Amino acid sequence: MDNSMLEKINRFTRRPFAENEVYAFPVHLCDNDIDRDQERFSDEALLSMSKLFVGKTGIFDHDPRTGNQTARVFDAEVVIEPSKLTKDGRVYKWLKGLAYIVRTDNNKDLITEIDAGIKKEVSVSCSANKRICSVCGCDRRITQCEHHKGQDGCHVILDDITDVYEWSFVAVPAQINAGVTKKYIPEKEEKSMGTEFKPITTQAEFDAAVKNAVEAAVAETVKKYEGWLSPEAAAALAQERDDSRAAVDALSTENKSYKLSAMKMKAANEKGIPFELAEKLSGETEDEINKDADTFAKYFTAPKHQPTPRYSGEGAFTDSKNSAALEMLREINNN
Ligand SMILES: [Zn+2]
Repeated sequence: MDNSMLEKINRFTRRPFAENEVYAFPVHLCDNDIDRDQERFSDEALLSMSKLFVGKTGIFDHDPRTGNQTARVFDAEVVIEPSKLTKDGRVYKWLKGLAYIVRTDNNKDLITEIDAGIKKEVSVSCSANKRICSVCGCDRRITQCEHHKGQDGCHVILDDITDVYEWSFVAVPAQINAGVTKKYIPEKEEKSMGTEFKPITTQAEFDAAVKNAVEAAVAETVKKYEGWLSPEAAAALAQERDDSRAAVDALSTENKSYKLSAMKMKAANEKGIPFELAEKLSGETEDEINKDADTFAKYFTAPKHQPTPRYSGEGAFTDSKNSAALEMLREINNN
């Protein structure tokens, strides 16, 4: 270990450590190849992470012998390997971290394991602001293209790394080349899921989407016409109105008929026609009725030349229908 390395380590320690007190080792943090999630880091992402990882601690997962032993990255750099290509044929690059642990009696075995290359699997956590489609270049955190990860050469390029978090040694690697897994901070990922567009591919999904849209529209309309009549209430009101109208019509007809009766009675009275025959008068107006009454009345007028004491005009009013008819016959005979 050279002096510059020790200097860098001592930036992170509470007191300056001597060379024999610390153990330094390289860590393969991540690379630019496509991992089993069909994702990869951009070159810029690796570069920014080489700065962000400095000072970040790493833990030795699931190893009861080492307890809470932690390592710390004190330096990092992007290593380019021109002789090696990624799965899609780009020059292979990886992020090399330099980490240290403080030597203790408890971690001798651990240091031996690291030296032997057993502890080389690392998981990293980061926040990626951009998730770029490798085919069309759209940012899938904002828009959704028609390409699907793992199909037709499509994968997601993680870019614009805003932060990295604690890293750890784990048993199973995600990144095939490096033996590295990665994960994202949940709240960041939830945010991206919220804006992700889900294409509709089945009838059931379509129905569900339409149902939601219809329900939303109905709810909006109900809210808009809150306090207005429902169709059922409107129909009931219309029926009520029609019923009232019919009742008024019936009353009008009845009233008209009463009026006619009254006019006929009046005409009969004035022209000397028996009340019993008043209803026989025809006409819709007072004039028509009076005219008809005049014609009718001739039969009830007292004879001019042979007045009989039995049939006076007054008598004609009060006598029965038969007496009226008799008088009518007499008049006919007289003429
Ligand atoms: Zn695309």
